[in-house]
Parts: sequence; C-alpha cells; structure tokens
Amino acid sequence: MNRILVTGGAGFLGSYLCEALLERDEDILCIDNFFSGSKDNIRHLFAHPYFELIRHDIIHPILVEVDRIYHLACPASPIHYQYNAIKTIKTNVMGTINMLGLAKRTKARIMLASTSEIYGSPEIHPQPEDYWGNVNPIGLRSCYDEGKRVAETLMMDYHRQNNVDIKIVRIFNTYGPRMAIDDGRVVSNFIVQALKGEPLAVYGDGSQTRSFCYVSDLVEGLLAMMGLDDTIGPINLGNPDEFTILALAEKIIELTSSSSRIVHEPMPADDPPRRCPDISYATDKLHWAPKVGLEEGLMKTISYFKEKLDL
Ligand code: NAD
Ligand code: UDP
Repeated sequence: MNRILVTGGAGFLGSYLCEALLERDEDILCIDNFFSGSKDNIRHLFAHPYFELIRHDIIHPILVEVDRIYHLACPASPIHYQYNAIKTIKTNVMGTINMLGLAKRTKARIMLASTSEIYGSPEIHPQPEDYWGNVNPIGLRSCYDEGKRVAETLMMDYHRQNNVDIKIVRIFNTYGPRMAIDDGRVVSNFIVQALKGEPLAVYGDGSQTRSFCYVSDLVEGLLAMMGLDDTIGPINLGNPDEFTILALAEKIIELTSSSSRIVHEPMPADDPPRRCPDISYATDKLHWAPKVGLEEGLMKTISYFKEKLDL
C-alpha cells in the first residue's frame, strides 16, 4: 500500500482520482483549499479508513510523509483561474515548488497535472508533445497557461538538478459528472443551459474547436502514467475526436431534447481557435486510448446534471 498525496483532491478530476486509488487499495491523503472544489465531491469517501482530508493551501509548505504525489491543485476553469489571477500564479509557482520540495525530501514520485493550454494558440495541429506552443505571456489566460509552463519548468529543473522522480501530463479538455453547476467550462455551461431551457451562449461564431475526454478515460491515463518507470513525459492525455463548439451546442440540444436556442456572445480574449491532442506517444508508451465517445459521455453528464438540478 502506497501513501499517496492528491493535491486538489476535492476538485472535479481529483475526486475521481482519489476514488480510483482507494479502489486500488492505496492510502490517500487529499489536500484542498476548496477554492473550486467541494466537500460534496468527496463526501462519499469520508467513511473510508484509508481516506484522509487536510484543508490546506499549497502555497504554504506542508510536512507530510508520502510515497507518491498527484499534483492537481489549481483552478482549471477560465472564470475560476481569472477570478484571482495572482493567486493562480502563486498556486502554480509556489504551490509546485512546495510539492517538489516535499517530493525531494520524501523521495516521492510526483506527477504534475499540466494542460493543453501550454500550447496556447497552436500553429501545429494536432499538437504533439515536442511542439513548444504559442502563448501570450501578458494576456488574461497567462496566469494559467504561463503558470503551468513555469510549473513544467520547475518539474524538469528539480528532476535535472535534484534527481526528483517526475511525471508531466498535459491534460486536454475533460468533462463528466461532478463538474460544478457554475464551473464555467463549456460542457457544463451548455448542459445546464439546455436543461433549464435557457439559450446556449456560444462565444464567437462557434467555429473554434476542442476535443473532449470523458473523466474515466483521463483517470485511467493518469494511473497508467504514474505506474510507468521509464517515462517522465510530458505526455498528452485527451480524446482526439475534435468538434466545433457550435456542433457541441447542437449535440447537447439534441441529447437533452431541449427547446433552447443558440445565441452568440463575444469571444473571450486569447481563446485558442483550435485544439486537438496528438496521443500517439500515450498510445505507444501507455497502451492507452480513450474509450468513451462524446455522445455516451454527454449522456452520463446530462443525467448527473438533471439530478443535480432536480429535474
Ligand atoms: P477543479 O477546479 O475542479 O479542481 C482543482 C482543485 O484544486 C479544487 O478542488 C481546488 O479547490 C483546488 N485548489 C486550487 N488552488 C489550490 C491551492 N492553492 N491549494 C490547495 N488546493 C487548491 O479542476 P479540475 O478540472 O479537477 O482540474 C484539476 C487539475 O487538472 C488542474 O491542475 C488543472 O489545471 C488540470 N487540468 C484539467 C483539465 C480539465 O479539462 N478538467 C484540463 C487540463 C488540465
Ligand atoms: N465556450 C462557449 N460558451 C461557454 C463556455 C465556453 O462558447 O459558455 C467556448 C470557449 O470560448 C472556448 C470553448 O468553449 O472556445 C472551451 O471553453 P472552456 O472554458 O470549456 O475551456 P478552454 O477554453 O480552457 O479550452
């Protein structure tokens, strides 16, 4: 049994990861400051004898003894990470330094949940891991995308300089049940709007693309990568099926049998026009590929929100 720290464990992805690790008989320490996560996401784990929760902000050091660290703490939705941009940078920089210091002292293997946002507005499509990206260093998204780029740099420097055992995973848009109603990301926004019969707000003309990965597929990828001894990454994890945002809105209206219409709102600054992972490295190294298609994943997510909204 490994002692595993999950930072951001009360968030959307972190809560599924804690669950999956408990199923594998691991000993879990979840750390979260509940900025964008919630006790509700992990309440069902409280009675488990190997689940422990500490309310803590990772910008401050913490002394615990662990064997592995999944470092997920950081708000992921643009509305959340832009709410307090300086705090987002502190979480990515000071938080990651603290987790790397902890990994160095305890000799724990540490995985960083990085993001496709580090590719910025990509000039290469789909994005392979050796693409360096095209990122605005002074824009509204910089606290997050540049923050994660520095976090990746810190991981590599602790690895080169102090031999810390690292893994870098670049996660592409992931969705599923347990996203907060007010999360602000596109899948949850559209589903909530469609279920309430409100207009679906597509930013811009909706021709921008994203590739949506169902949460269970993503968690399997994280576990596979952590178990691998010979690869530090970075490695892309995501679903390579690419859709326009307009097509996503139409699909959600169809699957919810909603009478909602589509309206267009201004495009946020620096919103990447297209994004799709090249997952050949993950397929080769991890023998991993997403299994859940968009329609199946959306149906599961729609059922969750129906219940949550009491419909
Ligand atoms: P989320 O916002 O639901 O979860 C993040 C969690 O981290 C929350 O529980 C939050 O309270 C916690 N947190 C934030 N700042 C903290 C701090 N300073 N100290 C302690 N806890 C803190 O987001 P998510 O979708 O679960 O994303 C988890 C991780 O995966 C993030 O690092 C994100 O950047 C990365 N990621 C997610 C996606 C996605 O599509 N879901 C895509 C790319 C990368
Ligand atoms: N988007 C949208 N309506 C919304 C939320 C998002 O049209 O209510 C668009 C957004 O402009 C972006 C895409 O959907 O082009 C994905 O946005 P999200 O915030 O989910 O993730 P990210 O931009 O970080 O990929």
